[in-house]
Amino acid sequence: MRRELLETSDEVIEDAVGYAHPMVLRAILYQLTGDPELQDMPLKTALRGYYEYYMPANDTDVAVIRRKAAEFLKNYRDSGAGPIDIGPLERLPVSLAMMYGQPIAKEHEEFFLQDLAVDPWARGLKWRETPDPKRLADFSVTIIGAGMGGLIAAAQLKKAGIRHTVIEKNAGVGGTWYENRYPGARVDTPSRSYTNIFGVNFDYPNPYCEWYENERYFNWLADEFGVRENITFNTEVRSLVWGEDDSMWTITMAGPDAEHVTRSNAVITAVGFLNRPHIPNVPGAPQFEGLSWHTARWPDGMSLRGKRVAVVGTGCTGYQLIPELAKETAHLTIFQRTPQWLFPVPGYTSPFPPQIRWLDRNMPFHTNFMRAQSANTAWFTKLTQIDPEFDDPHACNAMNKMARDVCVKFLNDKIADPELVKIMTPKHPVWSARAVVVDPEYCILDAIQRDDTALVTSGIKQINATGIEDQDGVQHNVDVIVYATGFRAADYFYPIDIRGKGGLTVQELWGHDGPKAYRGCMMPGFPNLWSIYGPNTNGGLHPGSFHEMITLYAMKCIEQMLLNGKKTVEVKKQPYLEYNELVDRLNLQRVWSDKRADNYYWTHSTRTAVQCPLPNTQIWSYLYRPQFEHLEMQ
Ligand code: NAP
Repeated sequence: MRRELLETSDEVIEDAVGYAHPMVLRAILYQLTGDPELQDMPLKTALRGYYEYYMPANDTDVAVIRRKAAEFLKNYRDSGAGPIDIGPLERLPVSLAMMYGQPIAKEHEEFFLQDLAVDPWARGLKWRETPDPKRLADFSVTIIGAGMGGLIAAAQLKKAGIRHTVIEKNAGVGGTWYENRYPGARVDTPSRSYTNIFGVNFDYPNPYCEWYENERYFNWLADEFGVRENITFNTEVRSLVWGEDDSMWTITMAGPDAEHVTRSNAVITAVGFLNRPHIPNVPGAPQFEGLSWHTARWPDGMSLRGKRVAVVGTGCTGYQLIPELAKETAHLTIFQRTPQWLFPVPGYTSPFPPQIRWLDRNMPFHTNFMRAQSANTAWFTKLTQIDPEFDDPHACNAMNKMARDVCVKFLNDKIADPELVKIMTPKHPVWSARAVVVDPEYCILDAIQRDDTALVTSGIKQINATGIEDQDGVQHNVDVIVYATGFRAADYFYPIDIRGKGGLTVQELWGHDGPKAYRGCMMPGFPNLWSIYGPNTNGGLHPGSFHEMITLYAMKCIEQMLLNGKKTVEVKKQPYLEYNELVDRLNLQRVWSDKRADNYYWTHSTRTAVQCPLPNTQIWSYLYRPQFEHLEMQ
């Protein structure tokens, strides 16, 4: 029962629905009432940040939706606000399509229904048959990492009754959100889709949460699903060696006191690819007499109030950090080599209005539909797919051009000096490198125009005892240097030494091409090993969904093995090669193949080991419906 609703006045209800997303309200109402008047409403598209979504074209239709929502809530309140059913299941795909503004193909309905999270374990393993209890009890999985991926894997394995342990190098859970505590660190995908389907009702204060709220979510996940008790903290995995005699992985790890070894039938790596800091080798750096650190190693409680600080690097991290630091430093010098596209999202750094949180608590299924709405990444394919017919030197298709226009206008609205606009205008097309979401109220563009900041674009010549000398020979004296210089993104699994059949290392398998995997998670010669956030799994699905699906895929492989009395599963070489040929071919049709963008998406061998070019429904289908003929089981 929703007690809060019982005591809510008409005025509060009417006010709250005014804040709701009309398409979300429309879909919920249609699902719960089947009201035909909601069905045929003309739509228009709108851009929010780099997200595109549909809206009713007429204000009168928006008013109708809101009025009906208020009426529905008042009636629901007056009838006691008790438990409410989701309504006819066969109506759900229609309701979802009404929210997305686009029809859903029959074969993709299940994908979208999963994202709605009405069944929070829709991506859990539902055993086809009960496995032999001894075989199940004898089977063990080691998960490496207790960040987002490792926690998801652990929660899902636990639910499926598969024995597992988690090894985590840090003292707490959260991975990226345990390590990245720099001022301003927050997600730039909506928090609603950053959570899992089994976390759909988690109470977030912000549409885009700061690092500590994300960390709070992962602590909740660890406790809510009993995952924490299976985690060994402060322990770093050094090597994985496959034993051909016993079909087990030997895992060597360094704990707080000593090195030790364990063995398990299977391993799921969830070590992240933006995890190991990259600090450039700048001449003279060891001579610097002040303090310096990487953004992912922010010293606990460190305040830079009144200090002279240099920030090197202006990717997502630098652009988030700089506006916050500028508020407190005595002087901030920003070393920018390449500018990035900035997408203004009003309210990006603000909490949800109280009305939205009220709706989350009182409008039935509001959290579900809001989650499903923000989890749909179809727009991203549209934004980044190269249209060979589209003739524009700066954009790859019409929507990409529209997004660029939004960004260019934002730059010009914010900056009066045309020279500075030029400096801050990237040469590469939108989304050929990672773009950055910003709050239009206050962001990097405000920070660089302050009197107490300096933007240096000539490059770094050297570092010396007192600061940094730029390529024009100008000396910038600082007390602190902060490296916002990113991560060893293309060094998947680094620094773990992984040896499969015949002692083959992953680097030997990959050769000069750099990291590759089948479906982003399996490699030939490495049986019973799956990787979460492995090669080519950035994009396609939101990270949380991708991790859920790869875990489900791994569990389906394990199920197949256990039900058939097999001990090992491994991808065959040919499907591995063919999958990567497909990935490479499709990546060349995406905007990040533009040569003007030079960033961590690309390895040195002109392929991306990072990006997933498959549309959400396709990669989901590959993972949801394993093609066992591609796998060898023994
Ligand atoms: P990044 O995108 O790799 O950016 C690194 C920055 O350091 C770039 O500006 C780069 O310049 C500069 N740099 C590297 N080596 C340098 C050198 N020798 N001299 C001068 N500058 C140098 O790293 P990041 O900003 O940490 O972001 C990494 C990824 O983390 C993001 O793309 C995103 O996926 C994720 N992230 C997400 C969020 C979010 O969700 N909001 C926030 C932060 C990070 P060049 O571009 O010229 O190479």
